[in-house]
Amino acid sequence: MTDARMVGVSRVLISEEELRSRIAELAAELDAEYRNDFPIVIGVLNGAVFFLTDLIREMKIPLEIDFMAVSSYGDSTRSSGVVQIIKDLSKSIEGRRVIVIEDIVDSGLTLKYLIDNLASRNPADLRVVVLLSKWAIGQAPVQHDHVGFVIPDEFVVGYGLDFAGRYRNLPFVGVYDPKADSADLPG
Ligand code: 5GP
Repeated sequence: MTDARMVGVSRVLISEEELRSRIAELAAELDAEYRNDFPIVIGVLNGAVFFLTDLIREMKIPLEIDFMAVSSYGDSTRSSGVVQIIKDLSKSIEGRRVIVIEDIVDSGLTLKYLIDNLASRNPADLRVVVLLSKWAIGQAPVQHDHVGFVIPDEFVVGYGLDFAGRYRNLPFVGVYDPKADSADLPG
């Protein structure tokens, strides 16, 4: 029997187990880095929610969370370069140490926009944790302080990442396969 979760996915790129163990490593790095601080962890909605909640559950230091929502793609698979803030932070980050949690970096335009925007609010410092980057370590055109996985330049879904609003609830990261996508969803 076909696994219904694999419809629209050509292959699993990062399994649940690989996600769990890498996220535990990132949490330990952040715990060490922010041991004497009380950082604000900012998640970029909607994609980074899964990563953020799993990451902070592994972290032991006191922290706060807040969220921003931006839109850069519409329903296409390439960035338009036009970033819109759909939901802003609920409080000031002035003088605070800020950790930005991003799900994925492709062109880097979205993250660049976010970093510039947040930096203009005068945080004490701002670091960036990216779960998936399509850029080799040290090559990204935008700030990456911690990277979960470097991935190939393919469109991926799952673990928070969608295509046209779907697939976010897959527990793994998979490569999107438009040919195998189910065309007969209700609605
Ligand atoms: P960028 O501005 O770096 O090109 O794109 C960043 C945003 O585009 C991400 O936050 C994410 O929402 C979306 N994105 C980029 N690459 C992918 C991908 O491979 N799969 C999915 N589902 N979204 C992506």
